[in-house]
Amino acid sequence: MAVIPVSLAGRSYDVTIESGVLDDLASEARGYLNSFGKNGRAVPFVADNNTHRLYSEAIERSLSGAGFAADWFVVDPGEAAKSWPMLEKLTDWLLSLRVTRSDHVFAVGGGVVGDLTGFACAVTKRGCGFVQIPTTLLAQVDSSVGGKTAINTRAGKNLIGAFHQPSAVLIDPLVLGTLPDREMRAGYAEVIKYGLLGDAEFFGWLEANGNKVLSREPDALSYAIATSIRAKARIVAEDERETTGVRALLNLGHTFGHALEAETGFSDRLLHGEAVAAGMVLAARYSARRDEMPQEQAERVTQAIAAAGLPSEISALGMQGTGDDLANHMRHDKKMESDTLPFLLLRGIGEAYLARDVEMSDIAAFLDEQLK
Ligand code: NAD
Ligand code: MG
Repeated sequence: MAVIPVSLAGRSYDVTIESGVLDDLASEARGYLNSFGKNGRAVPFVADNNTHRLYSEAIERSLSGAGFAADWFVVDPGEAAKSWPMLEKLTDWLLSLRVTRSDHVFAVGGGVVGDLTGFACAVTKRGCGFVQIPTTLLAQVDSSVGGKTAINTRAGKNLIGAFHQPSAVLIDPLVLGTLPDREMRAGYAEVIKYGLLGDAEFFGWLEANGNKVLSREPDALSYAIATSIRAKARIVAEDERETTGVRALLNLGHTFGHALEAETGFSDRLLHGEAVAAGMVLAARYSARRDEMPQEQAERVTQAIAAAGLPSEISALGMQGTGDDLANHMRHDKKMESDTLPFLLLRGIGEAYLARDVEMSDIAAFLDEQLK
């Protein structure tokens, strides 16, 4: 078992990583069940159809053994649940349960369930408590920690939201046993990201042990999750609201990746983690092209991504667009001063930094080379 503190003034909490935590939820989460249990009310749980089907029974068994009951709000799987209509339904439901600010709502699912539930809890009664039980690798190493919550709107993803930290994050690596392999790999891209942005030793460990993580070998998996969360917790503690530039490091590979997602229409053709994987290869190669990162290290990044079964060559993605089309997605995305964009680049494996002198015309030319 690993317990990793996320230290934030007045809002500190622990991330617990323990195999079997779900089967033992009533004791692991006792402190967060009480206000409901005392009044004989059912505890609110939010899930999607998949996580409800797979894990509600174990959760209910554990709760009922301790004299609690669960009440479920279940959404269809997929990004569409992060919407205004679903937020309204969820908050109406929480209000109908007479949730108070000292109560806790449990989110059991991937980043979609976590983001929707977290945002609903941020605004219900001006902020009630919530506990994250992330069930995808991406949610376990990334979205469940750090307090960013959001829904999507017509104008784009995650544009309406709030910073609202959970009271606890309970991670059961065993639930990844039912996660589809493609989702597992997509989450693994964010694991590689932590090594690449600030921990060369971890990156080297992943080069040697990545296959064990992907095949869910318990020790390797728990180590990779814990190391990732330690990195995220450190960064979030330093820059909770992304104001100093430290938290921005977590966006390594994301500017390129976002352009790839936009070019493929944010569809199932390219999952977020897959786009980030290709984006990290591009960031490494572009850094090498600027002579900032040794060529041989950029090659290692490509190898690590390819070995995980993630896309490393954007020429193989079957996109119609040119380098300039991709650059245009980035231009639209950010407030542009002249034609330069702050860009996360690498001085080496484990050394990401924010470059402020990147010309978009140069990026477009580089991407044209990569698309060939
Ligand atoms: P997701 O929540 O859509 O889950 C992916 C799929 O896996 C779904 O079909 C889900 O039903 C299924 N699933 C979940 N757990 C499972 C399990 N244990 N076994 C079998 N199937 C399971 O996707 P995600 O990748 O977890 O999250 C993506 C979302 O996270 C995006 O909306 C993104 O914006 C958000 N996000 C938020 C943050 C943040 O800091 N808040 C960070 C990164 C991503
Ligand atoms: Mg990401």
